[in-house]
Order: sequence, then structure tokens, then C-alpha cells
Amino acid sequence: MKETIACKVLDGERLSFHEAERLYQEADLLELGYLANQVRQKLHPEGTVTFVVDRNINYTNICVNACRFCAFYRPPGHPEGYVLSREEIGRKIEATLAAGGTQILMQGGLHPELGLAWFEDLFSWIKSRYPVTLHSLSPVEIDDLARKERLPVAEVLQRLQKAGLDSLPGGGAEILVDRVRNRVSPKKTSTARWLEVMRAAHALGMKSTATMVFGLGETIGERIAHLEAIRQLQDETGGFTAFIPWSFQPGNTDLGGEEAGACEYLRILALSRIYLDNFPNIQVSWVTQGTKIAQTALFFGANDFGSTMLEENVVRAAGASFHADQEELLRCIRAAGFRPAQRDNEYHIWRSFQAG
Ligand code: SF4
Repeated sequence: MKETIACKVLDGERLSFHEAERLYQEADLLELGYLANQVRQKLHPEGTVTFVVDRNINYTNICVNACRFCAFYRPPGHPEGYVLSREEIGRKIEATLAAGGTQILMQGGLHPELGLAWFEDLFSWIKSRYPVTLHSLSPVEIDDLARKERLPVAEVLQRLQKAGLDSLPGGGAEILVDRVRNRVSPKKTSTARWLEVMRAAHALGMKSTATMVFGLGETIGERIAHLEAIRQLQDETGGFTAFIPWSFQPGNTDLGGEEAGACEYLRILALSRIYLDNFPNIQVSWVTQGTKIAQTALFFGANDFGSTMLEENVVRAAGASFHADQEELLRCIRAAGFRPAQRDNEYHIWRSFQAG
């Protein structure tokens, strides 16, 4: 059975839910990696690994959702709560541009007093001053704004797009199965609503990424159900540019528990590449896995090294402590045998570097 499924993968045929489940259960790490690498080489035969120079700006850590896996948020009124000023945001963007950056990823908690107008003003202000792509606000933040303003999601997105929002990061997906969501983040956007926001964004011509955080007590079937949900939406809209899986970081969280190991990460990454036959790019998550596993991931289906992340606060709050500047990313990509290339948000190559 495993061999029949492997032949389908090598022939470029789509796997069903049950075939993926069977393959994950029966294939060992290297078999999954081999298949994923074959798929990756067909899609990206040029031997390039891309990355983007950007910065995460977490405009506030105040949040009313209290997700059990989150070490980043502070409830309203907490002494460590903050909202960044325009001056602070401006300084961070200037530093990003000075480092050759092209993109800003703004994400934050669900602050009860920040309404749609606050974001419209901020985005217009940023776009009037700085030549950056705004890859910002996950479906959870969009959903929160729609509810606070009592507006349809499409209208919120249209107004933000007009103010300068270019694309959406795929945060807040965790596992797109409500049984899991209800246990670890009961107040958070449901699976259907997360997909609804992405569908509406894609309909407006905005691209987005999709993510998955695994290790939240879900079954392998629920992980594949997550992949199935985004594969179906991608068939419908074609609006996802990339998929980025990473393991839950339990440090300082209410949920706690053990972090999934490197083998599990590589197996899920490989399965994602095999199952998501309509996703052009799979990103490594060196921020959570470290650069050595990220290099290995390039042979398990990944073709993109993600971002330089000049600043990252969310997984750092949960204890992940990996850092890498652009030189380190170039070194990692070259040492793995690939040619590095800086890309923009839509995966257009900006600058190619020499291979190692
Ligand atoms: S994961 Fe996001 S929505 Fe949940 S508590 Fe943290 S900041 Fe708030």
C-alpha cells in the first residue's frame, strides 16, 4: 500500500486524505523526505532557496483572547501591556529599510480599544512615508475588527487595502479543526471564519500565506484535515503563496507540555509538501527549529528560508531563542548546497547571490 501511494506521489498525482494518513503512518522519516524532495525538485529545479528581509512589528501585546498556548499576550490593564507609538513604529521601519528590507509584518493582540480607523490611519501614514510592503494582520485580527465595527469582513479588508494593506500573514490558524481550537483557544476565530477571511482577501486580489502550529494535542488525522482545508481553499482561489508549519513552543504558556522534536517537524514538513500539491512554496521555520534543522528541511520539501526577522517577539516569549542575520541565512543556504536569493512578498526575485 505504501509503495502504491509513493508511486502516486512520484507520478505527480494528488493524494486523498486517507492515502496521506496511511503514508504518514507507514513511511519512515527518510522515505517521506525522499518523496517530498522529489516533489520539491520538480517544482523548483533551479537550486535556489529564497528568503525575504523583513521585520515583525508587534504593535501591541494587549489581548482579550487569552489563548492557552500563547506566552506573548498581556490582558488589558496588565503593567507589562504596551501599544507602540507611531514614532517607535517609524523607527523600526527605518531600521528595516536600512538593512535592505522590503516588508513589514505587523501583528498584535486583540486590543479592545484599537478600532478600524486606528489601523487605517496607521497604514496610510506608513505608506505615505516608507516604500514597504505591508504583509500584516492575520485573519484573527481582521475577524476581531469586523466584529468590533459590526462590519462584513470584505468591507474591513477593502478599507484596509485602500489604506495600504498588501497581503495577510496566515497566523492564527494553529490547527484548523474546531475540536482542537475549542480546547486551546476557545475565544479565537473558528476554522470556518479563518477560511472566510482568507477567501475574502483573495477575492480582493490580496495574497496570503497559510501556517500550521502542530503539537497542540491534535491527532495526525486532524493535521491532515488542516492541510485539506487550505488545499481546498487554494483550489478555489489560488491566493496562498506559501505554507509554513512549525511546532508549538510550550515555554511560559498555560498549556505547557513537550515540544515536538525535529523528526516530527521534518515528517510534517515533508507530508505538507506532498499533500499541498497546489502550494508553490513551503517555508522553513528556523526561528522555532534552529538553523541546522532548517537546512535539513531544505531536503524535506522546503524551498524558502522565510525571513531574516529583524525582530520577533511571539515565539521568543515562549522560550525559542534562535537568531540569524542575513549573513547567517546566506551561509546556511550556501552550506546546504543551494544558491540564496532575496525575494519580495510575492516571491519575485530581487537579488541573486553567488552559490557557496
Ligand atoms: S495567540 Fe494571538 S489572539 Fe491568542 S492570546 Fe496570543 S495574541 Fe491573543
